[in-house]
Amino acid sequence: MKKVVILGSTGSVGRNALGVIAKNKDAFKVVGLAAHKNVKLLARQAKRFKPRLLALGDDSQYNNLKHELKKPQKILKGAEGIQEIASMPEADIILVAISGTSGILPVISAIKAKKQIALANKESIVSAGEIIMSMARSRRVEIIPVDSEHNSIFQCIKEEKKRDINKIFLMGTGGPLKDVSKSIFNKLKASRILAHPVWRMGKKISVDSATMMNKGLEVIEASHLFGMEVSMIKVLLHPEAIIHSMVELTDGNIIANLFYPDMRIPISYALNYPRRIPSKLPKINFSKIKNISFQMPNNKKFPALELCYKAARRRGTYPACLNSANEEAVKLYLKGKISFTGIVSTVKKVLSRHKNIVAPSLDEILYVDKWAKEEVKRSC
Ligand code: NDP
Ligand code: MG
Repeated sequence: MKKVVILGSTGSVGRNALGVIAKNKDAFKVVGLAAHKNVKLLARQAKRFKPRLLALGDDSQYNNLKHELKKPQKILKGAEGIQEIASMPEADIILVAISGTSGILPVISAIKAKKQIALANKESIVSAGEIIMSMARSRRVEIIPVDSEHNSIFQCIKEEKKRDINKIFLMGTGGPLKDVSKSIFNKLKASRILAHPVWRMGKKISVDSATMMNKGLEVIEASHLFGMEVSMIKVLLHPEAIIHSMVELTDGNIIANLFYPDMRIPISYALNYPRRIPSKLPKINFSKIKNISFQMPNNKKFPALELCYKAARRRGTYPACLNSANEEAVKLYLKGKISFTGIVSTVKKVLSRHKNIVAPSLDEILYVDKWAKEEVKRSC
């Protein structure tokens, strides 16, 4: 039985993960659950899965959680509590499904404790990719990507030598605005922006999918996870979302990974790794697929993608600055304080003011995280 901790259990990935675990009770035991402030759902999950430990990021909700739980239960509090549960002694694997840069320190904590990591939180790897990957390498910690494209690439290249890889095709649907005229972007309601054509996800990643920032962050994420220059990673739009990424090898072969878009498939792979367990989720019925199409992304309409390539090429703290500025700008957009197109233009403005730090330490990355978020607030 694999003992699992889920950070962000009340979110979209976290709930899907608990769904996978509920269907495989003989394979997993939940030993820890963590969330930020959704105490009602966390309490329901605790009653059902009976973890030894709970952690709550927002400590102002601590008493509410105790009240919801009714029975006594050990609860860790605040950011330190989340880091502590990420290194829980009895855990075998930590699923990091927190959103945003709050994921950085828990990932580091799990690595220090030599836990296997199922990584959904892309913001940590975008901001602190070099540090995280080098710490994981030196401690022989396995990081299994949960993000569907990266999970696919991970499976495609498992048997391949790095020198045989020519190119990665990072797939994307194009998001909810692919076929919408840019002239009306700022007239659309947030509910329209959040309505992804394929995936049901948390708000932050849904907005990122609409700006295409998500795909840009994923390019940086892939470059760290697979140790490749961003020039080797090409974004390819595939609206049907059947192929979840492809790897081109130097001899001309292309390896692809296919499944109906359902996050429970990559989550299940990551949690079970290196085993596979049978799933009852629908398998692809090729006789029903009418069309498989590909398009190149429109960089003029969606400037976020090029901004991410540029930040990745500049290295240092540019990716961290871009990521944190975006996180804050998305927050302000969701609060109605800036327009939709204001998200990327704000990120661009903050990046232009950023003084790069070459080969940053973790503290310097955390400093840039704060600086970029403050800078967004100042400039809006
Ligand atoms: P959600 O917004 O749905 O969920 C976020 C989760 O993180 C919630 O459980 C939330 O708790 C918790 N959380 C947020 N901040 C903190 C904090 N400071 N401390 C502790 N817990 C915190 O996000 P998603 O599930 O959509 O995404 C999670 C991550 O996975 C993101 O990085 C995203 O990019 C990535 N991802 C998501 C995919 C998806 O299908 N959703 C696909 C690929 C990647 P609470 O509910 O209490 O606020
Ligand atoms: Mg993805």
